[in-house]
Amino acid sequence: MERLLVVTAHGDDETLGAGGTIARLADEGVAVALLVLTDDDGSRTASGTGGGTKRVAAIEQAAGILGVKQVRVHGFGDNRLDTIGQLELNKVVEREVRQFEPDTVFAPSLADLNLDHQLVSRAARVAGRPGRSPVREIRCFEIRSATDAGEAAGLPTFHPACWQQLAEEHLDRKLQALRAYGVECEAWPSARSERGVRALAEYRGSQVGVPLAEAFELVRRVLP
Ligand SMILES: [Zn+2]
Repeated sequence: MERLLVVTAHGDDETLGAGGTIARLADEGVAVALLVLTDDDGSRTASGTGGGTKRVAAIEQAAGILGVKQVRVHGFGDNRLDTIGQLELNKVVEREVRQFEPDTVFAPSLADLNLDHQLVSRAARVAGRPGRSPVREIRCFEIRSATDAGEAAGLPTFHPACWQQLAEEHLDRKLQALRAYGVECEAWPSARSERGVRALAEYRGSQVGVPLAEAFELVRRVLP
């Protein structure tokens, strides 16, 4: 892996889903770009208005902590990506793939209940389709609250096929990046709490006999 594009619906998805892995890969010299499709947190504020500039600043701060080199945030509305339409989302991600030329793409899982996540997951698959892009590998990460909600709603379960081992330092950077999002970092027993994030890393690690890990679904890998 030399060039990784992380595609997400919301700022914080990349941190919750793959923050430790991004930090580790960036340290190892992988060029990482982040594409976030929405720039507000409208669904979580009483007024229904978004975070706008504040949100973008948090995304950039978190990206800096994780070692992401390039950040692009689109101004679509939170939980309204269905009003944009799949085709338009595909085009946005395709444009990014054309410009950044990643060999690997990380995206949300289709197991997530959140519709924005599902739309972005599909757009990443379309943009990274074989023969039409340089993408050789697509992985999907889990975003606890959304993936858990999907499981509780009867969607197909998150089915990991890759485990990325993490050191304490990578988990620390993930937690530090999560703090950049402020309110998104909640109190235990929320899955978004620091304890919840650590518990998941320990659980995923223990599945494969290592102290800490993040798990991914493998959509496709083209071997040389
Ligand atoms: Zn999200």
